[in-house]
Amino acid sequence: MDCIFCKIVAGEIPASKVYEDDKCLAFLDINPMMLGHTLLIPKRHAEFLTDIPQKDYAAIFSGIQKVVTGILKGLRVDGANVLQSNGKAAGQAVPHVHFHIVPRKRGDGLNFYPAKRAYSAEDLKQAEDAIREACGK
Ligand code: AMP
Ligand code: ZN
Repeated sequence: MDCIFCKIVAGEIPASKVYEDDKCLAFLDINPMMLGHTLLIPKRHAEFLTDIPQKDYAAIFSGIQKVVTGILKGLRVDGANVLQSNGKAAGQAVPHVHFHIVPRKRGDGLNFYPAKRAYSAEDLKQAEDAIREACGK
């Protein structure tokens, strides 16, 4: 498969690895938003979060927790964001699930939160019902 992150897992291309276990691998982002910006990926290829087998979730979130802890302690920063995108419309450029773990310092100027939007009560209720029903399936 022609997937750049699978090639990193296979050791075919280099990466600055910071954490690895059976299920996940974490390495520095080649184009960082902040010093220490890390990507954590499941070793097994999956494009969207929804493609990951249920049984692998606990191990992946345990890996995320380890890397967040490593960033907070190792870099002595004030916080960290965990971001994950599904699909090109959401800004996903590499089609292998990855969690961005971004170190944060007070007043660092990064902003992931755009202006909020207003919707009618009817639209909000429709969205609420649609998501709730689909979650049940
Ligand atoms: P996204 O837009 O969420 O798909 O993010 C993909 C991320 O992967 C970007 O932040 C890139 O800088 C990063 N990236 C792409 N190729 C590599 C690579 N070979 N090693 C490390 N990070 C990479
Ligand atoms: Zn892959």
